[in-house]
Amino acid sequence: MKFTDSHCHLDFPELAQQLKPELADCFELAIERIIVPAVNPDNWQPVLEITSKVPSNVLLFPCLGIHPWYLNELTEQHLMALEQTALNYQERIVAIGETGIDGKIAIEQNNMEKQKEFFRYQLELANRLNKPVIVHHRRSHNEVIEILKQSPVKRGGIIHAFSGSYQQGKTYIDMGFKLGIGGTITYERAKKTINAIKRFPVGALVLETDAPSMPLSGEQGTTNKPSNIKVIFQQLVNVLQCEPEKLAEQIEQNIDQLFFR
Ligand SMILES: [Zn+2]
Repeated sequence: MKFTDSHCHLDFPELAQQLKPELADCFELAIERIIVPAVNPDNWQPVLEITSKVPSNVLLFPCLGIHPWYLNELTEQHLMALEQTALNYQERIVAIGETGIDGKIAIEQNNMEKQKEFFRYQLELANRLNKPVIVHHRRSHNEVIEILKQSPVKRGGIIHAFSGSYQQGKTYIDMGFKLGIGGTITYERAKKTINAIKRFPVGALVLETDAPSMPLSGEQGTTNKPSNIKVIFQQLVNVLQCEPEKLAEQIEQNIDQLFFR
């Protein structure tokens, strides 16, 4: 069995400081690919660097994007800069992201319209570059789905850290998205999401840690790591009650189909 962490912030200090041992652990556990999204203009170069220079048996793939948490000080010029940087590195990046809409931040910072504008721009950029997108959501399914309907994506993408109902998940799947399954499923309280996941086709699921964020249940306060993909995978096997080998193989195929065709 082989695995891919489809969402890990390896350039964040908590992980960057212990990169070599962490990647060695991943390789030992057959986690052979890691997708590294970017969150704002300041970390585009670190993401590009860490995914190219680090000596490792694990294959690392960068994405470029602007996360909805960081756009308060940003302007349209940063969108232009994103486009230029993504063009310069279009052979290396595997997706645009992470982008999306955060409903909680929209209320706190009163910036829903700006979030929508940045999200829409990045969807269109992904289409121009023929790349998938990595989509952040929090209390924002209605807005995310609305924008995705207005600006449909050609190459699909991942709904990062999916949590929600069966109907919400199915809407994304019907629009060509895979659902990122992460530490959420290790929490007892995530019943709605877990019950929904049981009903989705396995061809629509990918694994992710979102490390160093999103600690697993029982590990709050510690640094999440990409090697936890195996824990999330085991939990998914328990939820779906299926054969591990078959599930792992299907999920790797999903990743290939999304990023590497
Ligand atoms: Zn993330």
